[in-house]
Amino acid sequence: MIDLHTHTNRSDGTDSPRELINKAISLGMSVIGVTDHDTTSGWAEATESLRGTLGLALGSEISCLTEDGISVHMLGLLFDGGHTEMQIMLEETRDGRLPRMRKMIEKMRQTGIDIAMEDVYEALPEGATLGRPHLADALVNKGIIKSRDEAFQGMLNNDSQFYVSHAAPTPEVAIGIIRSAGGVAVIAHPFASLRGKILQTSDFKSLVDAGLNGIEVDHRDQNPDERAMLREIALDLDLVITGASDYHGSGKLNSLGEYGTSPDQWERLEAQSNSRRVVRA
Ligand code: AMP
Ligand code: ZN
Ligand code: FE
Ligand code: FE
Repeated sequence: MIDLHTHTNRSDGTDSPRELINKAISLGMSVIGVTDHDTTSGWAEATESLRGTLGLALGSEISCLTEDGISVHMLGLLFDGGHTEMQIMLEETRDGRLPRMRKMIEKMRQTGIDIAMEDVYEALPEGATLGRPHLADALVNKGIIKSRDEAFQGMLNNDSQFYVSHAAPTPEVAIGIIRSAGGVAVIAHPFASLRGKILQTSDFKSLVDAGLNGIEVDHRDQNPDERAMLREIALDLDLVITGASDYHGSGKLNSLGEYGTSPDQWERLEAQSNSRRVVRA
């Protein structure tokens, strides 16, 4: 099993990088991608935890915003973690998440919801990229809601009155930096329409021109029709087709390895990075 998209407690997952690697080993997986939101801070612990035959594809899921304000998640895999421009891009996005969280909390307080920044900090693992799931956890801890899922179906949804976006690169800029850092770029769950506004089929051309390598087709947030459309776009544009769990530990229902990438598609994708960067024990 090859699962190229997972999260740890360095962003909004709940397993430590070590716990995640241990689970991948005990499932007998062949390759796991560790792709925390806008950070590479879990790379070292994931690498140290490797044993046996598991291959580790280090990466990050980069939050992007199109010029029309559509939220896009770009998976960067197999890039050089020491690339300066990449680390600056990731850091700028993480920095922008703080004022954004303050604004969301302020909007909630204005309607009488008893939540404060301190509550969010209490729910935030050390060194983790701050996100809406941590605000959801804070709301759960205060007894205001029952679960992250409930939060994303209501108060924390993209269409909610409390939603605020944060500064982020365009998908084209993110792809350019991933590629110049030697990695490969795969657009994550592009047709996951429950999350908010999505790209049009015609938008993919400009991503390909920027250097896009693949499309995440098999993902639980995309229905069979959406997957069929994406598969067709990938064939049309000669892009690699991937599938992945987007595992978040107990933070989401997604189970590790529930979707995967075929060995031939993975081989094609890996060959498009500028050097052999899969980590092995
Ligand atoms: P943010 O990056 O702060 O805008 O938060 C978005 C993140 O919330 C996404 O990356 C998802 O991983 C997570 N998320 C979205 N929907 C849900 C859900 N229903 N339950 C838990 N986490 C979710
Ligand atoms: Zn997430
Ligand atoms: Fe995502
Ligand atoms: Fe994800």
